[in-house]
Parts: sequence; structure tokens; C-alpha cells
Amino acid sequence: MSLMKSEASNLAELLERALGTGLDFVDSLPDRPAACVAPPDLPPGPLLERGMGSEKALDHFRGELLPHLSASAGPRYWGFVTGGATPAALVGDWLSSVADQNPSISGDSIAPAVEVQVLDWLRQLFRLPETFSGSLTSGATSANLLGILCGRQFAGEAQGIDVASAGLSGTLIQVFSACPHASSLKGLAMAGLGRDSLMSVACEPGSEKMSVPALEYALSASGSPGKIVLASAGTVTGTDFDDLSAIADLCRDHSAWLHVDGAFGIFSRLLEEKRSWTDGIERADSIACDGHKWLNVPYDSGVFLTPHTRLLEQVLSVPSPYLATDGPLPNFMNRGVENSRRFRALPIWFSLQAYGRAGVEEIVAGNCRQAARLADWLEASPDYELLTTCKLNVVVFRPSDVEDLGGWLRALNATGTVFMTPGRWQGVDAVRAAFSNWSTTAEDVERVIELMETMPEG
Ligand SMILES: *Cc1c(COP(=O)(O)O)cnc(C)c1O
Repeated sequence: MSLMKSEASNLAELLERALGTGLDFVDSLPDRPAACVAPPDLPPGPLLERGMGSEKALDHFRGELLPHLSASAGPRYWGFVTGGATPAALVGDWLSSVADQNPSISGDSIAPAVEVQVLDWLRQLFRLPETFSGSLTSGATSANLLGILCGRQFAGEAQGIDVASAGLSGTLIQVFSACPHASSLKGLAMAGLGRDSLMSVACEPGSEKMSVPALEYALSASGSPGKIVLASAGTVTGTDFDDLSAIADLCRDHSAWLHVDGAFGIFSRLLEEKRSWTDGIERADSIACDGHKWLNVPYDSGVFLTPHTRLLEQVLSVPSPYLATDGPLPNFMNRGVENSRRFRALPIWFSLQAYGRAGVEEIVAGNCRQAARLADWLEASPDYELLTTCKLNVVVFRPSDVEDLGGWLRALNATGTVFMTPGRWQGVDAVRAAFSNWSTTAEDVERVIELMETMPEG
């Protein structure tokens, strides 16, 4: 105990050292290897009986861990769909640890009111009706799970069964999707519906977009009294958008719950010329999106939005007298997986206060320009094949004459200049480059193009 107390009395010095370490790391982001592709093993060792103190722990961190971190928050980490952290979001994230609030229950701080406010700002950012609210999650995976759980409850109600109380026994629920993100399949497993409850709907030819006639046929042919449609607003490889207006009509006609996965694709709504791609999203029953991707808030940060918060709370309520509060604010523990969690709203609050709608739009527009530049170059290059038109922030390609694509990608990533990840496009192995970092510049793209010009066989 005395060690903690003496450190607490010298907190400023300790935090300044941490700040120095943090700044060194952030400053190194443009130059350090984009990914640490072969981190050393951490051999098992004994738990210390007596600790070494925070200063020494910080030295160990600097020496043994920090050199092997990725620059995933930096400008040329183009794997998966990975966001960075804006300066304001970083400030908010640090201060949320300092404040160490649990916003799950109202009545002891302003934190739940901040979450309500942030959810409303995000609703405005995405141009959704005032009826939408929800909760902040750890990411789009848990937001997809919440959508599936709400859909399950809705489908149960249609059969006179309150699934949250009585369980799934006796219910019939079928799920329809064309190109669901893998996290939605995990959601089906977690929700007890099972991955096999998914009826795969055909895509439009050469696309990951759901075929509306195929969905219409599948819904009409289904004898299931409970139905959930999982639609995509931005698939991870083709960045294709389902026709949400037509799908919303079908869901209305067939009493199906409409969940939309807009993890990063919903940000296309910030760009006027792309806004119509998500027409109809305002009729969704639930929407999943990410904060730690295109919003550029540190991990972990996701958003679940729904006009059916009553249903959400029916599914997730925590019935215990010691947790009961009354007041106008929601108890967020009744709206999410966790009972207790960090003050996730604060980094978003900071970033939106600091930069507003225009700031987010600048990130999204800039990343789309960068992706378009890389795609144009690939298309013109005799050494590469652009596999599908670049519509948003993801570029899908392969080197033309390379047999061992995995080996080629490993060699590219081993340069440290850039990090890309594998994918599959229409049955063909591919490489994906996804742009979603605020700090990426046009020069970064030119630097990678120069590298790719010299890559063996590429
Ligand atoms: C990234 C992503 C997810 C999963 O989100 P996490 O933040 O990793 O939980 C779900 N759907 C889509 C479309 C995604 O891009």
C-alpha cells in the first residue's frame, strides 16, 4: 500500500514520464513500421511477489513492449478497417481514465447525460430521425449482437413469446442476409439462434449487394413466423450498399426486423454525392456502427442506434432492487451487454466538440480521395489488377503475375512502410487496402505507390 501512496503523492512526475513516453510513440507513428509482423515471444514468468513500482514498470514497457507495437494509429496502416485517434479523442480518452466513471446508472454523475448527448450528436451526424437512440458499445460486433437480440425479441413477440423471459423454446426465427460481416454470424451464435438460422440470399452479379428479388422470394417462401433481415451499409471488401428502401418495404410487408450493419459505411452519409446510397436507413429497426474506425476514436468504441429503445431495455434489463434508479435518463446497463463499463462517450464528445461535423467530413472525404488515387494508379499499372471499382475507402487488388499472394503480401508488410490485409473478391484471393485514418496524407499514398512499383513481380 505504501508504494501506491508514495506514487500518488508524486503523481505529476509519474504522469509526465508517461506523457513523454506517449508523445515519443505518437511522434514515431509516421516512421515506425506500420505493423510489427513478428513480435517476440513473451516467455511465461512468475508473478512478482513484490512489485517494481510504476517508474520501473514504465522502463520495462519502453524497453520490452513498446518497440513491438504496431503503428495501427498511424497513417499507413491500411489493414482491415482501422481508425486512428484524433488529438481531441485522445484527450477525451485519457480523461475518461482519469475520471474513471461508470456511466451505466444514472443518479450519481453527468456521465449518462453525456452519453445521451453523444448518441444524439451521432444521430444528427448520420442524419437519422429523432426517434433513434441507443447505447455505446465496445464495437460494431457488440452493436450487431444487440441488433440481433432485439430482432429475436421482436420475432418472439410476433409468436406470443417473450424470449428474454421464456427463452427461445417454441419459437421459429429465420435470418436473411446476403453478405453479412463475420461478426454477425458470431452474433447469431451468441444469441442462441445459431449460425445455421441464416438463410443466404443471393447478391447482385459481380457485387456484394443483396438482390432485392432474391430477398423477396426468400421472405415469401419462408414459413417462419419470426424473421430478421441483416442488411449491409458498406460490406468490408466491395463496400457495397444494400438497397435499404426496397428492403425496408419488404420487411414491412413480411413483418421482419431490419438490422443494418453500417460499421464504417454509414459515414458515406457525410458526403453529399454518396448520401443516396443509404436512403432508407432511417427506416431501419436497428443500426450498428463503429467509433474506432472512421470516427477516429481510440479502441474500443461502437454505437448501437434504434428507435425501439423500449424493446432494447426489455431484452437487457437488469432486474435488481439495488440497481434501480428513477429519473428521466436511461440506465445504460439496461441497454447493453455490460453492467459496468468505461466512460466511452467522452472521447467522442471531445472529438465532436473539437471538430464538429466538418471535421468528420474532412476525414471521410480525404480517405476517399486517397483510396481513389491508389485505385487509379493500380488500374493504370500493367503489374496490378484492380479487382473492383473503388467506391469508398477500400481498394481491392492483386499483383498480376504473382502465384504466392500470401508471400507477396508478407514481403510488402515486412517493409514496414505499409500494412495491408488479405481478402477475397468474387472467389479470387485479393489484397485489401482500407483508408480510415485522419492523419493519412496524399504523400503517404505516393510513398506506397513508389514501393509497389519496385515490389518483385509487382
Ligand atoms: C469492422 C466491422 C464489424 C466489426 O466491428 P468491430 O468494431 O471489430 O467489433 C462489423 N461489420 C462491419 C461491416 C465491419 O466493417
